Amino acid sequence: MIEVQAFGGFEKPLSYGVPVQMLSRIKVGCLVRVPLGNRKVIGIVSSLEPKDKPNENKLKNILSLVQEKPVLNEELIKLARWISIYYASSIDNVLESMIPSAVRDGMVEKTKRFIRINRQIPFEQVCEKLKNSPQQKKLFLYLKDSNSEVALHETIDLLGIGISSANGLIKKQFILEINKTIRRDAYNDEFTETNHHVEQKISLTKEQSQATKEICNSIQKKKFQPHLLQGVTGSGKTEVYFQAMEKVLSNGGGVLFLVPEVALAPQTVSRLRNRFTVQNENVVVWHSHLSDGERLDAWKAVTSGEARIVVGARSAIFAPVQNLKLIIIDEEHEPAYKQEESPRYHGRDVAVYRAMLNQGVCLLGSATPSLETLHNVEVRKYTKSVLTKRIDGRELPLVHLIDMRKEAQREKHIPILSQPLVEALRQRYYDREQSILFLNRRGFNTTMLCTDCGHVEQCKDCSISMTFHRTDGYLRCHICGYRKPTPRFCPSCRSIEILKKGHGTQRIEDIAESLLPRRAVIRRIDADLMSKKNAFRQTLEEFRTGKIDILVGTQMIAKGLDFPNVTLVGVIDADLPLRMEDFRASERAFQLLTQVSGRAGRGDRAGEVYVQTYAPHSPSIQFARQGDVTGFVEEEMEMRKEYAYPPYRHLVRHIFKGRSEDKTSFYAEQWARTLEANPIENLEVKGPAAAPLEKIKGYYRFHLFYLTNNVTRFLKQYQERRKSFPLDQEIQDIIDVDAFQIS
Ligand code: ADP
Ligand code: ZN
Ligand code: ZN
Repeated sequence: MIEVQAFGGFEKPLSYGVPVQMLSRIKVGCLVRVPLGNRKVIGIVSSLEPKDKPNENKLKNILSLVQEKPVLNEELIKLARWISIYYASSIDNVLESMIPSAVRDGMVEKTKRFIRINRQIPFEQVCEKLKNSPQQKKLFLYLKDSNSEVALHETIDLLGIGISSANGLIKKQFILEINKTIRRDAYNDEFTETNHHVEQKISLTKEQSQATKEICNSIQKKKFQPHLLQGVTGSGKTEVYFQAMEKVLSNGGGVLFLVPEVALAPQTVSRLRNRFTVQNENVVVWHSHLSDGERLDAWKAVTSGEARIVVGARSAIFAPVQNLKLIIIDEEHEPAYKQEESPRYHGRDVAVYRAMLNQGVCLLGSATPSLETLHNVEVRKYTKSVLTKRIDGRELPLVHLIDMRKEAQREKHIPILSQPLVEALRQRYYDREQSILFLNRRGFNTTMLCTDCGHVEQCKDCSISMTFHRTDGYLRCHICGYRKPTPRFCPSCRSIEILKKGHGTQRIEDIAESLLPRRAVIRRIDADLMSKKNAFRQTLEEFRTGKIDILVGTQMIAKGLDFPNVTLVGVIDADLPLRMEDFRASERAFQLLTQVSGRAGRGDRAGEVYVQTYAPHSPSIQFARQGDVTGFVEEEMEMRKEYAYPPYRHLVRHIFKGRSEDKTSFYAEQWARTLEANPIENLEVKGPAAAPLEKIKGYYRFHLFYLTNNVTRFLKQYQERRKSFPLDQEIQDIIDVDAFQIS
């Protein structure tokens, strides 16, 4: 008797019998087809000893095995259970996202037909028999001449004969058919770059050796250990990752290397390939653009242990790497690691848990680590190594702050590109150097900004900016729901120059074009371009080879890219993240600014960064300018501590959505009352309030925030209460544990 976790909306595992002839093949983690009512569904064998043992004669047997080998090992099943509990998602939902759909659907490996002649039958005899079949004879003679195996379809196309002739020959056994498994290896061309070079062994800097030693110490202990590698941009973190990987591989372990977005890490991927292919390692790239066939093959290579290195984005954390002993999370602070749909897991936190299950090392790398990770270092859950210097003592770029309040006064309007920035861009163009213009586009909200003093209207209770609502002209706080009328003058300096500020985007490219010499080549990289995979790669390639002078882009170009000829980075609106109603706003602003600045001056020439800001004195900008991570972290931690925001407590967001605004807000209110009447211990509840994006695709959204010390304990009590709170059919609710993007 076995226990099966069926897919498609079944929370509870079900018990089934196993036909005798299948007994030896059924293992935990096998994908099976089972009868359920009068349907057939797919599920995972979750245990060989079901807790629930129904009567033998009522028991149904499983129907078939979908894949011969188990698709999940016990470790991944444990991981799935944890994710399901911690992130409050149904287990079948978690399992489904863990197993690629090609594998789930029972897709088989692709085979290709080859043919050759059968030498057992004398040549003359065959010719005699084929006298009246000219087509068959033609193919036979061709095969005799080539005297080797040839691909069936290519050959008949070449000779211009039909498949029936070939099949006829095979049937008569004059020729033999061979089926071969073909590997669909699309990644090879996917991330190849023009500047191919074999990665040679370099001698490590002192700091690199020290960090390597510390990390290898943890690896050698063969125990669970999360480890932060904090290194300024260009300090050579990748080389340290590689050293750690080599150590683990030589111990016979497997490695997972996560990047925030594979398409944005072509250099990391090709560096990995260059380094490890010569060591006879098969590096598998795991990303969302893989076709089903490619994914199936990648998956097989990994489960069989043939490939020991997997590189990919968030979902690669589920790759079934064998004997996984090292998980690397590059740019661990990036929001892209958080999945914003169910299951709403955080890739980094799942990585740490998975490393724990495997008694392995989880290596988190960043120039600007998240406060969560730094807090874990502080409380000694994580160890830490630092790289404080750029390779070859290259300087961090010089950061100029452009006070946009003054620019606005001088030019009598608010310029999009300020005079100093335009001058600098022109100069680079004449010096044949490249520039990047960086625009932060995540600000989708309108806030109130004083262009005289930089004051931004904030909520009195929540320490976040308030948002202007066109519908009634009020300002609202999206955390607690507090609202007030839009001020007519700045509450801080009394100036009447207090403006609603939103953002246009494409204009940057146009404006840059109008202000720079006509021959300058200006290109844009944004989400639209990202969807056209080749256009995106091509643009990056053109920029790398110097065909583009100025690259305009959003957050996408902030990280990872390494272009030696870029000597200028312009940050068009450094304050935008600060104006978002998110308590992580300063942290994001600081991280982005530091990342973006890191793009400049990677070659021999020093880089410069121009930052346009209305708040030149704000801590995140000042600290980023000085490259002072410690200073920023100290100040920001203070603030978080004061409000007991993360990392001091966990934040859980509870969203209600529905087509009717009144109904949705009513249920959110009612739920809040229920909680008030029957409070959960040690929980702070904020809201309900309208979500920043009040309406998405016709659905109104209201949310509450819960701040808790213990997520699992909270969820238990929450779920009890939630069970006895029936929702209207038209209303849905969603739980987002450790919520990140508050939109
Ligand atoms: P980070 O990831 O910390 O921003 P990288 O790993 O991209 O930095 O390293 C920056 C550059 O320095 C890369 O071009 C890399 O090849 C080079 N590099 C790294 N370590 C060394 C070393 N020990 N000696 C010489 N060059 C190095
Ligand atoms: Zn003011
Ligand atoms: Zn508030």
